[in-house]
Amino acid sequence: MIIGIIGAMREEITPLLDIFKQYTTHQISNNIFYEITYKNSKIFIAYSKIGKVHSSITATTMILHFGCQKILFSGVAGGLNQNLKVGDLMLATKLCQHDVDITAFGHPLGFIPESSVYIHTDERLNTIAREVAKDQNIILKEGIIASGDQFIHNQDKKQWLIENFQADAVEMEGASVGMACHLFNIPFCIFRSISDSADGNADISFDEFLEKSAKTSANFVKHMVDAIL
Ligand code: SAH
Repeated sequence: MIIGIIGAMREEITPLLDIFKQYTTHQISNNIFYEITYKNSKIFIAYSKIGKVHSSITATTMILHFGCQKILFSGVAGGLNQNLKVGDLMLATKLCQHDVDITAFGHPLGFIPESSVYIHTDERLNTIAREVAKDQNIILKEGIIASGDQFIHNQDKKQWLIENFQADAVEMEGASVGMACHLFNIPFCIFRSISDSADGNADISFDEFLEKSAKTSANFVKHMVDAIL
């Protein structure tokens, strides 16, 4: 089995590299991929850099170049749903690109012709995630994630995301990683720990909680790897 683990920022993969400790590195497209041998399997870990473009390139490289058969994303997100507090861990059920807008032509927000508004995460991986959460006594919340190339720190925009996409959390990479996986038929799941509430204090909250929330997500992903292998 070859598993790919993607984060957006260095801080999101550092906890995983600290856990696995031994790796070799590969450099492709100005990006470092960490190769780990674990339980007779291979794991590739990389941070993509922020945003939908970078993250879809990283996911595609993981799939086409390194042959990853499953992709897990680990990182942080802004909470939109009041039930998602800073530090909570969530699993994405489906994701959309909130900054796609060709409504001028009568299409729904977030819709691209020959595609769909939402990309669904893999139900089998999600089932494993729920079992892992139960075994580890971890509360794993679930919801819809809206991804876009914007850091959301505004109450009105927050409300807009909830109303238009029923989104529970917002980030900048999940839907694009999902799209790459979907197109190449690779099962994927997205874990995010909440770093902020996407409101007027989001930047301050993000800086304060990035490291801790990134660790929460990464620790869970390590348990996921153990459950898969
Ligand atoms: N402080 C960083 C920028 C962080 S951008 C710098 O200066 O380089 C926010 C990152 O965390 C993105 O990778 C995104 O996926 C996630 N994220 C967390 N909270 C978010 C929010 N409120 N809106 C959008 N993305 C958010």
